[in-house]
Amino acid sequence: MSIRIFVTGGTFDKEYNELTGALAFKDTHLPEMLRLGRSRVDVSVRTLMMIDSLDMTDADRDVIVAQCRQAAERQIVITHGTDTMIETAAALARALPPDAGKTIVLTGAMIPYAFGSSDGLFNLGSALSFVQVLAPGVYVAMNGRHFLWDRVKKIARLGHSRPCDARCQGHKGKEQRTQRGTQRSPQRTNTMMTRVRASARSFVGRLTARFRITVTQLRAAVGRPEGLCPLFFFFVSLTAAAQPVPPAEIERLLSDYVAIDTSNPPGDTRKAADFLASILEREGIPVTRYESAPGKAILYARLKATALPPAGKAVVLLHHMDVVPADRAQWKTNPFAPTMRGGELWARGAMDMKGPGVAELVAFLRLKRERVPLSRDVILLAEPDEEVGGALGARWMIANHYAELDPEYVIDEGGFGSRDLFAPNALVYGISVAEKKLVWLKLRAEGVAGHGSQPTADNPNDRLVRALARLLAGGDPESVALQPTDAGRPVQDRREPSILDVMRAKVGAFAPNKFTNAIQKSTISLTWFRSGVGDPPKINVIPSVAEAGLDCRVLPGTTKDQWIVEVRRRLGDASIQIEVVNESDDPVVTTQDSPLFRSLEAAIKKRHADAIVTPLLIPYGTDSNAFRPKGVKSYGIFPAILSAEAVASMHGDAERVPLDGVVEASEVFFEALRDALK
Ligand SMILES: [Zn+2]
Repeated sequence: MSIRIFVTGGTFDKEYNELTGALAFKDTHLPEMLRLGRSRVDVSVRTLMMIDSLDMTDADRDVIVAQCRQAAERQIVITHGTDTMIETAAALARALPPDAGKTIVLTGAMIPYAFGSSDGLFNLGSALSFVQVLAPGVYVAMNGRHFLWDRVKKIARLGHSRPCDARCQGHKGKEQRTQRGTQRSPQRTNTMMTRVRASARSFVGRLTARFRITVTQLRAAVGRPEGLCPLFFFFVSLTAAAQPVPPAEIERLLSDYVAIDTSNPPGDTRKAADFLASILEREGIPVTRYESAPGKAILYARLKATALPPAGKAVVLLHHMDVVPADRAQWKTNPFAPTMRGGELWARGAMDMKGPGVAELVAFLRLKRERVPLSRDVILLAEPDEEVGGALGARWMIANHYAELDPEYVIDEGGFGSRDLFAPNALVYGISVAEKKLVWLKLRAEGVAGHGSQPTADNPNDRLVRALARLLAGGDPESVALQPTDAGRPVQDRREPSILDVMRAKVGAFAPNKFTNAIQKSTISLTWFRSGVGDPPKINVIPSVAEAGLDCRVLPGTTKDQWIVEVRRRLGDASIQIEVVNESDDPVVTTQDSPLFRSLEAAIKKRHADAIVTPLLIPYGTDSNAFRPKGVKSYGIFPAILSAEAVASMHGDAERVPLDGVVEASEVFFEALRDALK
């Protein structure tokens, strides 16, 4: 039989907002605590309420009693605020005497788990142990000890429990208790002071580290330990203006996000949107949801400009919630159970694109938390469907809700920083400003069928192979490329230098690899060849038709028609038919001459003075390509330093992202937005 855990809130599950000093509830930490404690106990966790126990009413207690009575489990642990734990214990004892056969253990914490040094983990472990060995009845477990419910009282001033003795007056649930929302009782004030002291203790370590002073010096400065409290608030207010979100919070966000399976197909993003919505709404940011098709949830949140009128149109922080499917048989880890290894978080979507999405989210939250003055609106947009073309994501929003977006800028995926991918031995950050144009072609040669014993000049295979050899001539497959004279020049203004000119001027010699090859040339991959008669094809029959598929990726500045003329010329056989199977929009190149690009560059260089920041052409497609034709300046950048190997892990069975990269990216985004939107 498993153990039932009921969560009711209390200090145990409180979150401390380091910026406002407020204690508030988010989700329960129970599952995480059980995981951290490597618990092997069979439990089922259910949250009944998330409230401060001083706000708990008789009706709330009735709910707890009813749930304990109905639970099939005979062993029950309840997490509860310590202030009125004894009252709840008394209510339970009245309703469920020992002959009811249930062992119920209440436990709590004096320091929130979120502080990182909580007694909650210890108390939870004790409670789980006690509930397995104690006889039926109602107990309280705190400080490593257990007490029958009517043999304990809380000493609020000291913040621990002790057995009741002869001097004890007025326990058994008759302590002062305030009604919901009424004035504070002396007990509550004491409890708050206990919490404030706990807060101070928890943060003094961080503060002293930040300011390189010792606790002894701090105490000497204020004369007595209690003086730490006002000093604590002083320091918090002093540091609030530049307080990054702690890496542990970012790790938790990313871990929870990648654990939501949004594999596309089917690409159901409703749970991911629920997750993001719950975070934003907790921070007081209203959320709008759209659904482009059943299951294809889109999430939209907007921070309004503080300047009136705004300096211009909005900035959109764009990311896609869907991920490519994962072949669990190939993965060494569970792709939807995030695993930390050597500072990297392994999971499907860690890199593409939930890691960058969390970096954007954290920057967005900081703009709100720190009340950063904004000269424009900032929109967080999370979309489905990118991994299958974006028709029900970015393109659907553009077609159906453009007025709600109408941005001047979009920040999206595309580029990143790397010490080895772009250039050997140089730290280069590429901010993508354009994509190559996709042109998929089918070639078809027709001839006369015949017997394989008598070769003829009308064999379509021979003709197609010879033509392909001419087309692909010039060395190894990686270097197969055509380079018309306008390569990479912006379509809008042919007097401007091309992106490639700018990149070469900034980076110098590129590192030789398939990524840098693909961004310097229009490329052709021969992806299939189809011929023969019958299945399996007969060896002694010359077919009448041979076909081949070409995945062409064309530099900006070359149109489809120009490209086909070039392919036909190189094939050198006018009888071969060329059919366009698919093409993307003509790429538009976003200028790098903008305040946001400069702010991104400055925020990167502030951290890495040696970094080269360059506009980048990317060889793959992103949602940005749907925005650029609308005149939107779209920058694709995950401002983290990634190895070529980590970049290559995208879509593979070892996808991972360095956690410090996500943390740094969130800081770069935040600073770039703060400075660009002054
Ligand atoms: Zn992506």
